[in-house]
Amino acid sequence: MNPGREGKMEKYKCSVCFYVYDPERGDPKSGIPPGTAFEDLPDNWTCPMCRSAKSKFSPSKPRHFSHPPGS
Ligand SMILES: [Zn+2]
Repeated sequence: MNPGREGKMEKYKCSVCFYVYDPERGDPKSGIPPGTAFEDLPDNWTCPMCRSAKSKFSPSKPRHFSHPPGS
């Protein structure tokens, strides 16, 4: 736990299956230890749910989505 670091480690959501990567939890099944920021994941990391590439992920803001992306 690193209080005061809020905002640095952002959750990212898979646009395909809506899995959310939580940096505080990491992805132990893929060898990613807790506390690993999304941008620090290896380029060959893929979504543990649907195997999509990192490029399919986008920042998951805690606030409500205000507009659809890419329109
Ligand atoms: Zn996915």
